[in-house]
Amino acid sequence: MTFPRTALLLTFAISACSSSSTKGPPSSSAPADLAPAAAAAPSGIDDVAGMDKSVAPGDDFFSYANGAWMKTAEIPPDRSSYGIGAILDELTTKRTQELITSPANASAPAGSDARKIGDYYASFLDEATIEKKGLAPLEPTLQRIAAIKDAAGLATYLGTTLRADVDVLNNTNYDTDNFFGLWVAQDLSDPTRYSPFLLQGGLNMPDRDYYLDPSARMADIRTKYQAHIAAMLGDAGVADAAAKAPRIFDLEKRIAQAHATRVETEDVQKGNNHWKRSEFQKRAPGLDWAAFFAAAGLDKEETFVVWQPKAFTAMAALVRSVPLATWKDYLTFHAISHVAGVLPKKFVDESFAFYGKTINGTPKLRDRWKRAVAATDHALGEAVGKLYVEKYFPPSEKARAEAMVKNILAAFSKRIDKLEWMAPATKEKAKAKLAALKVGVGYPDKWRDYSALEVVRGDAFGNAERAQLFEYKRNLAKLGKPVDRGEWVMNPHLVNAVNLPAMNALNFPAAILQPPFFDPKRAEVMDYGATGSVIGHEISHSFDVQGALFDATGRLQNWWTKEDFAHFKAAAEKLEKQFDAYKPFPDAHVNGKLTSGENIADVAGLSAAYDAYRISLGGKEAPEAQGLTGDQQFFVSFAQSWRTKIREAAARARLLTDVHAPAEYRADTVRNLDPWYTAFAVKPGQKLYLAADERVRMW
Ligand SMILES: [Zn+2]
Repeated sequence: MTFPRTALLLTFAISACSSSSTKGPPSSSAPADLAPAAAAAPSGIDDVAGMDKSVAPGDDFFSYANGAWMKTAEIPPDRSSYGIGAILDELTTKRTQELITSPANASAPAGSDARKIGDYYASFLDEATIEKKGLAPLEPTLQRIAAIKDAAGLATYLGTTLRADVDVLNNTNYDTDNFFGLWVAQDLSDPTRYSPFLLQGGLNMPDRDYYLDPSARMADIRTKYQAHIAAMLGDAGVADAAAKAPRIFDLEKRIAQAHATRVETEDVQKGNNHWKRSEFQKRAPGLDWAAFFAAAGLDKEETFVVWQPKAFTAMAALVRSVPLATWKDYLTFHAISHVAGVLPKKFVDESFAFYGKTINGTPKLRDRWKRAVAATDHALGEAVGKLYVEKYFPPSEKARAEAMVKNILAAFSKRIDKLEWMAPATKEKAKAKLAALKVGVGYPDKWRDYSALEVVRGDAFGNAERAQLFEYKRNLAKLGKPVDRGEWVMNPHLVNAVNLPAMNALNFPAAILQPPFFDPKRAEVMDYGATGSVIGHEISHSFDVQGALFDATGRLQNWWTKEDFAHFKAAAEKLEKQFDAYKPFPDAHVNGKLTSGENIADVAGLSAAYDAYRISLGGKEAPEAQGLTGDQQFFVSFAQSWRTKIREAAARARLLTDVHAPAEYRADTVRNLDPWYTAFAVKPGQKLYLAADERVRMW
């Protein structure tokens, strides 16, 4: 519940394999009190008026499809970019807010999901009660810390703070302010069972670099951080706060030194380390592991996956070498900071002053009601999602999307058959993986059961604690049970999609399956261009260099031959050159290597979506619409789905860090597909023209 945690959990996951379908930059934290999306929205992906037919499609396809819109659209002043993804995100945020803040929730039957949503929201909003209670709700925790008198007591306390708050593969979240974090997921070596994964934690700044980087900016942040620690302790009435702050900081710095780097943590091969429970004491001496596991409710588990083994060894050693009194001060600060969002205003303000302003440069704290919506959504996400789906995602749309998925899978299967570069044995494995792929559409088959979560009106603090504990126990309960590949990791009301490599599964939330991406009121061929290409993109991630690491069951086991890799690499290099040549600014070009994985997925996704649309028509041509042939509608709809305007500074920053190419060039993926040349009579000499052997065919 601290600001850093909440901020992480409420932004889009950023990883090479997931979230790649987001059209436009992440914008989930968008202010929702902008003009209603419908008013600002162009009339849709099939927006002929937004095209610029004076541009030759073969010269600049993005402008041909979007030129008129680009000329008139304006980026709102509080955004760095704007486009269809952002508009849809605003609409969905507004709908989610309406569902959570609905006064009707208060009169829903006691114990119902709607009532819990209403009570959670109202309690968070009830600042008067929170002020009146002061620090009283935290008092039992502070007393437990004060009562720690030996190493076993310290280990027990650390065990009670373990929560299911990290995720290395799906929503990709590596950080926790608790000493360690737990992720329960399919074992990567034996996907028939769940394993408890343990990750390093214990820092209250976002990353080890904040403690260790020698730059002046980071040094300045460190000075402000120590002042922040002192202020939080002082506000809580802790004696000698100013003297304790540097010692607490120093302990965190030593934890940071023990931490693995982010790059190391991202390497799945390095993380898959199985330790028996009985081995911890020998491999990571210093922490009383028996006491830790007993307090965490994990003392019956035989084996754990320790993601950063060196960090665990070094962190356990710190438990012994650092004086107990320092640990108790550190834990006191962490206990307060962890729940600052539901404490009185002075804690909220101090926490925001550091995490919001100093760390993130955010000038103003979001309105309380918006934070209440976010907190409620975080605690009761699938319950909110269920309400969302009931209102906005009819069964007919789910059926329509599932039919599309079926056609794209069929198209992919045929493409695998026709591949020339893949060894026959690998092809068989690819087809087995495709057959086993579980594609979730709209929402999970089985909704999460929140009946064990008690929400008490007027108890924001207790609600937050119970919600975290509920999530922890829900995850512990999976251990020993058969793996449920139908579980979702993304809420249905998120405009996004994700590939879950170890589950060999995909989630396509209801919110991305809505107009203008997916619209029952227009010709289906356009949905194949806009949404089918995203579905194909995500499917293809199961069969690329990353996907090659996980077999059909989700086992971490490379199923490609050396020759397969070599061929794939050669095709990838061709595409890298294509993207390296794109220059959004005279002095800056797209990084073909950085964006390679996502560009490959775009080519694969668009190709499969094209075949699938043809399959859906059973050999017939799609009817002409608005003067466009079926194929033209398909490609224009695809290019319009990338419609985005972005400020120069943001565009330059993303060129350096984003694994996705700028939207305009993602739209130019069309130049690798033969039918695009026929559809628009593209001729040699035109800017986007590629000779047949220069077109990249990955799949
Ligand atoms: Zn992707």
